[in-house]
Amino acid sequence: MTLQETYTALGREIAAAGARLIAVSKTHPVDRIKALYDMGQRDFGENRAEELAEKAAQLPDDIRWHFIGHLQRNKVRLITPHTHLVHSGDSLRLLRELDKRAQDRRIDVLLQYHIAAEESKYGLTEATGQALLDELNTTPLQHVRIIGVMGMATYTDDTEQVETEFRTLHEIFRAVKENYFVDDPAFTELSMGMSGDYPIALRQGSTLVRIGSKLFGEREH
Ligand SMILES: *Cc1c(COP(=O)(O)O)cnc(C)c1O
Repeated sequence: MTLQETYTALGREIAAAGARLIAVSKTHPVDRIKALYDMGQRDFGENRAEELAEKAAQLPDDIRWHFIGHLQRNKVRLITPHTHLVHSGDSLRLLRELDKRAQDRRIDVLLQYHIAAEESKYGLTEATGQALLDELNTTPLQHVRIIGVMGMATYTDDTEQVETEFRTLHEIFRAVKENYFVDDPAFTELSMGMSGDYPIALRQGSTLVRIGSKLFGEREH
């Protein structure tokens, strides 16, 4: 299939489920991004701060850039001028740094939860997430707005396990909404699903799927 055919089919499938496609363009050159842009795509995802800043400078201003990788605090200033949504809000210190560097802008962020069986240094647990949110109730952020949650399932062929993990993330989303954002209409996003597991994520209520290799082909390392 051509890029256009893949994009059209994927776009239909994702829209039918009521979700939005984020084209994960990390490692791919700007001309590939521009090709997809010319087909109408506006949401793109990157996981390295320098790469996002470099690409944003070369591409149209109406692209909505999503930062989807672990974000170090010393890289925050590189992305704040360009980023539409940070998916990887995984610590209070990071949120405070984003708040400080926002200047007069608003920065939308998702809380990243660790839902996979694999070990990972990043991502909140339900307990650490709750502690973070309690802390924010006491000392709120000025410019950062939390609008949902994000997570990655285990990389496995066991579709039942993946389904269970996505269901868990949806339950976390509901609980956080109920306990902390019940009167906040902006808290709506459930970012889950990648090339290998997005149909399962859509079934479990994903609103944002992050797809790279299925669109652009395998990444070179
Ligand atoms: C790379 C990446 C994706 C896209 O992965 P594919 O398997 O290529 O679709 C999605 N989410 C995150 C956080 C990523 O780092």
